[in-house]
Amino acid sequence: VFGGKIPRTPWTHTSLTSPPPIPLVKPAIQTDAVPSLGDAADDPAIWVNKANPEQSLVLGTDKQGGLVVYDLKGKTQQFLPVGRLNNVDVRHGFHFNGKQIDLAVASNRDHNSLHVFAIDPASRLVTEMGEVSTTAQDIYGLCMYKNKQGDIYTIVNDKDGRFFQYRMQDNHGKIDAELVREFSVSSQPEGCVADDKNHRLFVGEENKAVWALDARSNKAATLTEVMSVSEHLKADIEGLSLYQTQGEDYLVISSQGNDSYVVLDALPPFAYRGVFRVGFNTDLGIDGVSETDGLDVTSVNLGEPWHQGMLVVQDGRNRMPVENQNFKYVPWSDIADQLGLSATKK
Ligand code: CA
Ligand code: CA
Ligand code: CA
Ligand code: CA
Repeated sequence: VFGGKIPRTPWTHTSLTSPPPIPLVKPAIQTDAVPSLGDAADDPAIWVNKANPEQSLVLGTDKQGGLVVYDLKGKTQQFLPVGRLNNVDVRHGFHFNGKQIDLAVASNRDHNSLHVFAIDPASRLVTEMGEVSTTAQDIYGLCMYKNKQGDIYTIVNDKDGRFFQYRMQDNHGKIDAELVREFSVSSQPEGCVADDKNHRLFVGEENKAVWALDARSNKAATLTEVMSVSEHLKADIEGLSLYQTQGEDYLVISSQGNDSYVVLDALPPFAYRGVFRVGFNTDLGIDGVSETDGLDVTSVNLGEPWHQGMLVVQDGRNRMPVENQNFKYVPWSDIADQLGLSATKK
């Protein structure tokens, strides 16, 4: 029929051109569901308890209602119904009222404000310190930065692309913040993260690219492209976080458009390290993760199974059973194994 020629099969053609499968890791813990219905869970921040890492906490925003505080088993410790908090971040060692406290700041969309909380290491209680108004008209993403001198900054963005960098201040025993720098990207941003060690700030422009710039407020805000929307990074670009040890610096990016996470070197030239998805853990009855908004990662040993640290991701669809949205915790050691990151460690 084919004149003696061997026909090229479509199967062969497809197998040569289809991309390799995306590695899967499994969540080891899922949190209780957030209180609000619908698209509500958004952004987590890990608070490391330095004296007792196994007693660390995860703060998660419920963007319809407030801030949820979880332990490392995913159990709700507190819910602070303070309003529509979008993103949250944490820094240790803020000088306030003659003491050093740990600070969490969230972007409050009800008031376009910085909503500030203190975390008490002894009691592990999160308490409201107050709100600081901003010049944002539609406040959205938020991250924090601590410089070498110990000054703590909160960087927020507006949906119109503007970023505002504030220095957190103790104003005679009242929380305050001073606007110290402004810059912008050309379209809607959200996720951002600061590399305190290398004073570098990463910002995500949702439909376009991840950019890097100097985090120091007295420097020019010159944007360098880290990675644009492409084969591995599908819009929206959402949460950003850093995995840092003495020998490793990785940037983790939520590639929301294809339900996966991209890992890059966090140092120039920002080499690509791989991509992964968070699948089902059928043994533990935990569903896989899709449409992640915010995420956070730490390299600190929080006890088993987090000896190499932990990734926390928001899950857009919480199934098994179907409930309000929640967050899933993934051991970093599984990600390092899947991506061959441990093998490359010096
Ligand atoms: Ca969402
Ligand atoms: Ca966050
Ligand atoms: Ca977004
Ligand atoms: Ca899910």
